[in-house]
Amino acid sequence: MIRRSLLLSLLVALSLAACSKDGGSTAKPEAAAAQPAKQDGAHAPSTVKPGSHEDWCGEHQVPESQCTRCNPDLIPAFKATGDWCPEHSLPESQCLKCNPDLEIVRPPKGS
Ligand SMILES: [Zn+2]
Ligand SMILES: [Zn+2]
Repeated sequence: MIRRSLLLSLLVALSLAACSKDGGSTAKPEAAAAQPAKQDGAHAPSTVKPGSHEDWCGEHQVPESQCTRCNPDLIPAFKATGDWCPEHSLPESQCLKCNPDLEIVRPPKGS
């Protein structure tokens, strides 16, 4: 069952990729730049364990499980705990504009 749904989502992802590729022939170059293919810009799958090395949004340099820019559904939870910067629409704990010294470190690999 698990394997089946995994395969299904893989197929969906593949067809989505194929779609965007087909439509991309007429798209402007900037559209491609918005979706970096390099590994640094990679997003973690939603199945990763929060707090693990794999749980990392390469595009926004925060844990993917806490990335409000990828998952706007997370925003109310941050607001509820008061961890929110309304000026920059970011969790205060992720707002480098307000906290230039802030360092969000990717968890190390292993275990
Ligand atoms: Zn992100
Ligand atoms: Zn801010």
